[in-house]
Amino acid sequence: MPAAPNADLHCHSTVSDGTLAPAALAHRAHGNGVQLWALTDHDETGGLAEAGEAALALGLRFVPGVEISVSVGAQTVHIVGLGIDPTHPTLLAGLAQVRSGRELRARMMARSLEQQTGLRDVYLGAARHAGNPTLISRTHFARFLVEHGICGNTHEVFGRFLTPGKPGYVEHDWATLQDALGWIQAAGGHAVIAHPGRYRFNSTEELALFTSFKDMGGAGVEVMTGSHSAADFRKYAGMALAFNLRASRGSDFHSPQESRCDLGQLPPLPADLAPIWELLH
Ligand code: AMP
Ligand code: MN
Ligand code: MN
Ligand code: MN
Repeated sequence: MPAAPNADLHCHSTVSDGTLAPAALAHRAHGNGVQLWALTDHDETGGLAEAGEAALALGLRFVPGVEISVSVGAQTVHIVGLGIDPTHPTLLAGLAQVRSGRELRARMMARSLEQQTGLRDVYLGAARHAGNPTLISRTHFARFLVEHGICGNTHEVFGRFLTPGKPGYVEHDWATLQDALGWIQAAGGHAVIAHPGRYRFNSTEELALFTSFKDMGGAGVEVMTGSHSAADFRKYAGMALAFNLRASRGSDFHSPQESRCDLGQLPPLPADLAPIWELLH
């Protein structure tokens, strides 16, 4: 059997909430020994052309990707699409629809953060951190609050203000699971449940998510990812086997300053799992 490649199939550029441009990410991935690399910006494919060109020049195998925001009940679930055609009209229209809700959400977040912190012009301040005006995310607000000394780091901002139940959190309706999978599949891609260990489902709800995902033609689940503990690695390796899903590996790298897990640095996938990259050509 050929040795498994060093695959990193989940990360973010300045086109969503990362701090490195797509070409800079390609160089960092290559420098870290990544052999198979996907860029998966939130709800946006605008960085894939630059990423693909830079990867080609480096001799780095590139997989076009995206990470779609989905609502499942009251929770947000992220679905990564891998091997997509980034120009497919159905996918592009779907992603544009998902992005279109972000501005009003951001204005509501800004109002409540102004009330909480006494800062002014929070919307404009967060927007200055966003490399893409159609993609203002909670991360950009977190960076603005750190810049102004409200918190010491972005994780602290999320804990105090930006997670469900906290004062700067705004409920939002993202795509449906069915729509997100439909767009990914229309564009020739494979859908993967991102970082399942981060959701707050009880076990019945989690089984329901995996069951409907599989029934809709979902292909894989992230087993190795930057926010998973060793217990999560084991749990979701078991879920991949139980649901006959392929396993993925992706750091979810956002920034050299903020991310604990750098590109290409996760442990390898357990050898008994079928890797998602066997489907990617
Ligand atoms: P949004 O799409 O605007 O809801 O922002 C989601 C992004 O916020 C995620 O992709 C992460 O990059 C970031 N994020 C979510 N929770 C945390 C956390 N606890 N600490 C740091 N970043 C987080
Ligand atoms: Mn993010
Ligand atoms: Mn995510
Ligand atoms: Mn991500």
